[in-house]
Amino acid sequence: MWPVLLVYYTGVMTAVGATVARTGARRKDVRKIVMFHQGNSLPDCHALLRKKGGRILRELPLVHALVARLPEESKVMEELSLNPGIRLIEDDFQVRTVALPAARIEQAQQTVPWGVERIDAPKAWQVATGGKVKVAVLDTGLDAGHPDLAANVRGRKNIKFPGWPAGDGSGHGTHVAGTIAALNNNFGVVGVAPQAEIYGVKIFDRLGNGYISDIVAGLDWALQNKMQVVNMSFGTTRPSKTLEEAVSKCVQAGMVLVAAAGNEGKDNSVMYPARYPGVIAVSAIDQHDNLASFSSRGPEVTVTAPGVDILSTYPGGKYRTMSGTSMACPHATGVAALILAQDGRLSGRQVGRIIYRTATRLPNLSPGEQGGGLVNATALAAVARFIGEPEGEEAAEA
Ligand code: CA
Repeated sequence: MWPVLLVYYTGVMTAVGATVARTGARRKDVRKIVMFHQGNSLPDCHALLRKKGGRILRELPLVHALVARLPEESKVMEELSLNPGIRLIEDDFQVRTVALPAARIEQAQQTVPWGVERIDAPKAWQVATGGKVKVAVLDTGLDAGHPDLAANVRGRKNIKFPGWPAGDGSGHGTHVAGTIAALNNNFGVVGVAPQAEIYGVKIFDRLGNGYISDIVAGLDWALQNKMQVVNMSFGTTRPSKTLEEAVSKCVQAGMVLVAAAGNEGKDNSVMYPARYPGVIAVSAIDQHDNLASFSSRGPEVTVTAPGVDILSTYPGGKYRTMSGTSMACPHATGVAALILAQDGRLSGRQVGRIIYRTATRLPNLSPGEQGGGLVNATALAAVARFIGEPEGEEAAEA
């Protein structure tokens, strides 16, 4: 029930949230997000929690909150919950996934991965390749030196371990980034938007551990740094008010948020943040246009995209095949970048609407499985048609 990276390992159990690390804690305490009313200055908020024995770990200005370790005693929690300056206290819960060692795949000549081909990205490149569009990949970091990515990597930020390089010890983030924007050259693979500007925002460690507060801090960084699209190839079955509010602020600010639907493999199982309004939720299909068995589905799905046996970049200049709605999500992110390259003024809701309405309906899949259909890279040709349309009820589709 904790958030997980949505890569799917056949036959391998994903160990989710077995333990909560308590490094440095000298007493029994709990990791909480405390949201304050806007009238309270953050220094005052610090002081209040410290007085109760709290140890402040991080500020979350996006939602006017602090992350803190607080004494577990119920008396302290009760006192805090009654404090008029505090509007919400909730768990800052953790992500944990297992990464497998990379199998090196030689890619001497450039291959167009089947998913990139299936959504007609090569056709779209005659019109746009995603140039000058800023895309943040909130993930395990990024191998910025990968020869098939490096020219598109414009920045990295380590939210998880501030001050440290944002390298990718897992491989998940580098794989996701390659599907969005691997270079169109004479080797390796090629991404959906091969000139998009990639920013690797590390919110998970190399074991795939990250807190809700890491995600929220990553979203705040994306907003502050004017990212236009945010790829979120992770999810949790457990809702978080903090995450919901952070997502809502980013949507209101016009950012395009794209998230993996989840690997729950059953009906009505779209995970958070994909489940939140305004987020483009992406399910996964295989090469035969069937819904991937692991893919979550439900009324919140916006579109489907290739997510089985996806070949992409991997740390150390390698390439690797992976499966999951984690791999489907960056296909839609790439399409969003192509659309924004056509018109950078479009809001996230407008881009979501274009993606939904230009998707290719697949005959074998129900609406809950595919949303509007298979995401379609040639959607960018339709941008002019949608500009100026009022943002009515249809915006809710996205
Ligand atoms: Ca390439």
